[in-house]
Formats: sequence, structure tokens, C-alpha cells
Amino acid sequence: MADAFLETLWPTRCAICDTMGAVICPSCLGALPFIDVNRACPSCGAPYGQHQCTECNDAMLQAAQRDCLPLDGMAHVLMADDAVRRIVTVYKDANERRLAAVISQLCARYVPPEWARVPLTYIPATKEALRRRGFDHMADVTHALGQHCGVPVLDLFERPASLDQRKFDRHGRQRNMEGRFCLHPEVRVPQEVLLVDDVCTTGATLFAAADCLRAGGAKRIYGLTFAKVLAT
Ligand SMILES: [Zn+2]
Ligand SMILES: [Zn+2]
Repeated sequence: MADAFLETLWPTRCAICDTMGAVICPSCLGALPFIDVNRACPSCGAPYGQHQCTECNDAMLQAAQRDCLPLDGMAHVLMADDAVRRIVTVYKDANERRLAAVISQLCARYVPPEWARVPLTYIPATKEALRRRGFDHMADVTHALGQHCGVPVLDLFERPASLDQRKFDRHGRQRNMEGRFCLHPEVRVPQEVLLVDDVCTTGATLFAAADCLRAGGAKRIYGLTFAKVLAT
């Protein structure tokens, strides 16, 4: 009854095209740029990187001052075009929290069978973002994903003060992230863990979080993000 009343006042609209009826309408959902896992880089999950990856080759790793990727595997659901960015923005900043279920269902399709039993954790929202939005967007998505996949979700990281990466270039992003994460005191880091985040641009955020997990004792760390921004 209450839901029906609210639906009359504020009808559910598609996050992308504003059509009434669903948080993402079937035609927008069908048109999303899903990454083809058979053509993606097996290491970093970049689209079309299966044979020659532009995201995690030696030159890119050198620029990030790394010998190898700090994650043992990465997967991304979508390429970050305008529609995908709009889903993330409407979810995070327009308070359309029902998108958490849709985002987590799409993420579930991209968990490869070998990660299926691995416990999940997420990049926490900063203190400032949590205050502004009133919810931790990736906590909600990851808990929904955990429920969907039947795996535990571990709250491993302290909430950072600030992680804003937008004003930095690729090198700046790497430097800005160094040492930004720390684990909750007394937390037990599992041997294997799957890190979940919304958008992967250079990977700096996931890499820094993975370094922290590895220092805490994790042996195999995987990364799953909803959207991948292409470097070129
Ligand atoms: Zn639509
Ligand atoms: Zn790659």
C-alpha cells in the first residue's frame, strides 16, 4: 500500500532514459556495453585485451611503478560509457538505492567459477561521501552480491578520510592512493578475497587496497568492478 502510494507520487524511472516502470528499462539494459569475457585480458579484465593488452602491458606497469599486477585476476562487467556512468551517478548521488540489486545481479554474471566460493570485500566509501549520501554504495552492492552468490561479505577496511582521484592524472592517481587503505584492527584477512568496486579507471584504488590485503596476509586477491574506463 505504502509502495503503491509512493509509486504514484514518484514513479520509478529508468536511470538512463527516464522512461517510467523500472530502475533500468529493458531496452537500456539490453543496450549496455557488456564486456565479452572471451575477448578480455585474462589478467586485468580489460576489454579486447585477450592477446595484447593495452592496460597491463610492461609499459603500463612501469608507469604504475610495479613489476606485476597486485591482483591475481580482475573482471569488469561493462565499459564505462555515458549510460553506465549515469547508472553509477543515479545510484550514488540521486539516492536510487534499488539500483544496488540490479548492479549486483549484473556483477554476479561476471564472477568466474574459480572465484565462486571466495569471500567478498569492498572499497568503503570515504567518511565525507558517507555523510553526504547517507549510505555506503559499494557496501550495499557487495552485500547483495554476497547474498546472491551465497558467500560471506567481510568488512575489512577502515573508512578512508578521502580518496578523491578525479583531479589526478594516471601517475598522480597511483601516488595519491599509496598508503590510503588500512585494515580494521583485529580483522582476520582470509587467504583468498574478492575485492568489489564500482568503477576502475587506472586501477590505482584497487591496487592500493590489494597491497593492503596482501600485507595483511591474503594470498590470492581478485578484483571485480561494475565499470571499466578505457585508457585510450
Ligand atoms: Zn531506459
Ligand atoms: Zn590486461
